[in-house]
Amino acid sequence: MLPGDRIAAAEEILPGYGTVEIDGEIKGTLLGTFTVDKEKSSAEISPLTSTPLVVTEGMTVIAEVRHVMDKMVLVNILCVVGVDRTIVGGGDGAIHISDISNEYVVNAKDKFRIGDIIRAKITEPEPSLRMTTKGKNLGSLRSYCIECRHPLEKTKGKEGIVLECPRCGHVEDRKIAADYGEGGFNRE
Ligand SMILES: [Zn+2]
Repeated sequence: MLPGDRIAAAEEILPGYGTVEIDGEIKGTLLGTFTVDKEKSSAEISPLTSTPLVVTEGMTVIAEVRHVMDKMVLVNILCVVGVDRTIVGGGDGAIHISDISNEYVVNAKDKFRIGDIIRAKITEPEPSLRMTTKGKNLGSLRSYCIECRHPLEKTKGKEGIVLECPRCGHVEDRKIAADYGEGGFNRE
């Protein structure tokens, strides 16, 4: 079970330890084994190890975009790449617009949207967790169509690589990682 993987629809089961409800779906937030707590009717993830982990500068993480403002992207860390442990303090972090890309970004909403699963690097663990997606292997790994929520696919547009919805044809722009869409969540 990978963080961000869909477990079930929210009508089927309650979110429990290691899972969250997002837009009517139960998703895992930890690397581990999926179990059902029959007494509580809840979906639970048993982490591979349970020693809490403190996030430090330079760590590569997988995170989910929770909120996008004009100049700032707020994310929740799902896991640290290469480390199967729970993160201390819930792992909420921010990416400033100047840390999104080496190219100039006019508005953060042009590069990230709610629900994107991204790979980012920690630049500042304290006082508030900050990270960057500058670099070839950093950026979105999975993005969803803003019209119909279907996962977007990488395709060649007139001005380079863009993301296109195979269901409704909507074309969108993101700061993507080089291996977008390849499912390589646990890679640097
Ligand atoms: Zn669509």
